Amino acid sequence: MAANLLSLSKEDLERRVVAAGGRPFHARVVRERVLAAGVLDYAAMTSLPEDLRRRLAAEVPLLAAEQREQALAADGTTRLLLSFPSAEGPPASVETVYIPPRSARSRRGATLCVSTQVGCPVACPFCASGRAGLQRNLAPHEIIEQFLRGRALGPVSRAVVMGIGEPFLNMPALLAALECVREPFELGARSVTVSTVGFPGRLRRLAPERPPFQLAISLHTPFDEQRAQLVPAMRGTPVEDVLAAGDDWFERTGREVTYEIVLLAGVTDTREHATALAARLVSRRCSVNLIPFNAVEASGFRRPDPASVEAYRVRLADAGLVATVRHSRGAGSDAACGQLRLRTLS
Ligand code: SAH
Repeated sequence: MAANLLSLSKEDLERRVVAAGGRPFHARVVRERVLAAGVLDYAAMTSLPEDLRRRLAAEVPLLAAEQREQALAADGTTRLLLSFPSAEGPPASVETVYIPPRSARSRRGATLCVSTQVGCPVACPFCASGRAGLQRNLAPHEIIEQFLRGRALGPVSRAVVMGIGEPFLNMPALLAALECVREPFELGARSVTVSTVGFPGRLRRLAPERPPFQLAISLHTPFDEQRAQLVPAMRGTPVEDVLAAGDDWFERTGREVTYEIVLLAGVTDTREHATALAARLVSRRCSVNLIPFNAVEASGFRRPDPASVEAYRVRLADAGLVATVRHSRGAGSDAACGQLRLRTLS
């Protein structure tokens, strides 16, 4: 497997460029063209000598994945299925979703939903991503490539790390990738949201470093026993410990945590759930994002009706909490993240 451009350190790229007949500064030009200007083809880097362009194209692949594209909605929401080669075992396929702003007149760019792992070890029973377990972690360059391929569809001004995988189980790679795209994509800490099931120890260790993103924690339910079922990797971790780690995150980073609640009809969307959640959160600096379940085949769960979603939201709002409902884009077949990949595996 030839080392791909984004996987090379600055020094290694310089060596490869010199070996291909270029000057050391050409390495900087190549990186700038790719990361800042979004040029994904050596042939179009006209500020480089032609010979060098040809040799780099033959020797240092610019991207690693094979890409399939699927339009999810008329508004331009598009899912990319990316297959990265693996040193051992089958290719690693993940999804990246490009979500344009709601209004065509908006001056903002799209939101990009990126993956961090191939599969997921957490195994939430309502989620398609963990059905086949974890295949492997993504390398930093594979996360960066998702950003580049997303931006090839149009400007990107926000990123949500809510694709396949549990970001806190591959944090060094995610941080390395964010460090690389932060400047060229102009993605400040407030423009990137990372969603996690919320391992308290990992949250407490990372918070003092004030990583450059907003945090969302998938809480789903205020009840310990039910959370152990819905988020199996968190069995043995009381909800209160997760919330205390969220408080610590806010104190250390100065950024409020958002708690995500997947609303499963009759399972997590009841009046008791809303009341108990409000009681737990009312004294905390945080907000809540309600996510009506997107149907996943054979999961046994159902999407709640809009009235019960609204009732849940109002109950939180009445308690003084900021609660929003996430409307899924590209609804329809296979809209839930991880579904397309799941289908290609079976
Ligand atoms: N592994 C991370 C990122 C997951 S995706 C995490 O668990 O936070 C972002 C959110 O979508 C999570 O809250 C996740 O529980 C939720 N989710 C997963 N499958 C879903 C589905 N089919 N419908 C609605 N939300 C879902």
